[in-house]
Amino acid sequence: MTPAPYPVHLVGAGPGDPELLTLKALRVLRQATVILVDDLVGEQVLATALDELPGPPPRVVHVGKRGGCASTPQEFIEKLMVREALAGERVVRLKGGDPLVFGRAGEEIAALRAAGVEVEIVNGITSGLAAATSAGIGWTDRQAGAQGVLLVTGHAGHGCEEPDWQAIARVAASGVTLVVYMGVARAGMLVERLREALPGELPVAIVQRASAADEVIACTTLDGLVDTIRAERIGSPAILVIGRVAAQADANARKHGVSGLAHPMNVGQALSALTL
Ligand code: SAH
Repeated sequence: MTPAPYPVHLVGAGPGDPELLTLKALRVLRQATVILVDDLVGEQVLATALDELPGPPPRVVHVGKRGGCASTPQEFIEKLMVREALAGERVVRLKGGDPLVFGRAGEEIAALRAAGVEVEIVNGITSGLAAATSAGIGWTDRQAGAQGVLLVTGHAGHGCEEPDWQAIARVAASGVTLVVYMGVARAGMLVERLREALPGELPVAIVQRASAADEVIACTTLDGLVDTIRAERIGSPAILVIGRVAAQADANARKHGVSGLAHPMNVGQALSALTL
């Protein structure tokens, strides 16, 4: 079989604000002929990246859970990437946040390599980082005594072991900030387990759709978490930032709608802004 002429790029789309896309992601997206897009990728991100393309537009395939349909099986996505790459297409797999943070990128990389297709990864800003910034929190703020950060999933996924919440709670009790992905739907369980080693008044910031124009930020405590999620009607995608740093959370910390997304730059403007 003829080898694939181009590597497949696994690209991080960032959390939602198109201006948080990296220049490398922008370049790779604009050279692509086929783009496989995940659910969590903000529509504005792709629209902005492909704005005013000089050549023909790429084929865009949505492979996430759209309109309540079941998500595309992982195996199908992997086969599609391999097939398109071997057919000579410039394939981009666009994933929300960073492709390597809870993104199942490992399976995709393995499938591509097994088929002899080269892979290149382009980092994106992970939603846990964007969420903290939106709430005005530094993951490792020294004044709050945070000496580290732990990214953890609230939903282990089929066939995977549950995180060891007791161990995680002990680490958090030592002053490490917890950033929980996929945790909103299971907040009740999470609080119960974490309370074994953490006080009920420990601050928590909840950020839904971090960095997007319609982001929602709520500040609460471990004991108030479940009620706050219900009262604010928070659903996926959302991040929980748990720890002393969350005491500084401010629901108005980053007003994207005012300066950023209300008037997103097009690619030409973004590039010329860079040369100023
Ligand atoms: N690779 C992604 C994470 C994928 S796992 C990243 O680096 O961000 C999916 C989870 O990520 C969601 O359930 C949610 O917890 C979180 N997430 C993704 N995008 C988000 C956003 N814009 N705001 C808040 N949480 C988000």
